[in-house]
Order: sequence, then C-alpha cells, then structure tokens
Amino acid sequence: MVREHLECPICSEEFGMQTRIFGCSQDHWICEACAADERLAECPICRESFRSRPPMRKFTVEKIAGIVMRNRDGKFESAEMA
Ligand SMILES: [Zn+2]
Ligand SMILES: [Zn+2]
Repeated sequence: MVREHLECPICSEEFGMQTRIFGCSQDHWICEACAADERLAECPICRESFRSRPPMRKFTVEKIAGIVMRNRDGKFESAEMA
C-alpha cells in the first residue's frame, strides 16, 4: 500500500501534508529535516551519494502524500495518481 511508504526511512517521521519531501534520483524519499542534515552522506536505501548529488525536492510525492493523508481515515485506500 502506498501509505506504508509515506514515512521517512531515517527518522520514521510520517510525511504529513506540510512535510517537504526530498529524495535521491531513484525516488527514495526522506523528510526535509533529514535532507538538510549535513551528516547524511548517502541515500539510506540505495546508498547513492548525496555529496555528489544532493537530494532533490519531490513535489509530486508531496502532492500524493497530501492526498493519502487527507483520505487516511476515509474510504480511499490508494492514492489517486492523477
Ligand atoms: Zn527524516
Ligand atoms: Zn536512493
């Protein structure tokens, strides 16, 4: 389910509707606070170096996270990708 992936793998903070989400080029997502941490040298999932390629903001993911969070207690189990 989409929802299970909507948390930061580093700090386990859930991506809320206000969270700015960053990620590596492979689309592994981390929260803004972790992305800003200078000690974070690489993606925790694929080990892509953040030194040579800093994490990028994922606007599409933020949008999806917003939809999922808004519907989390509702009838919609999966996010609308459109
Ligand atoms: Zn985090
Ligand atoms: Zn990665």
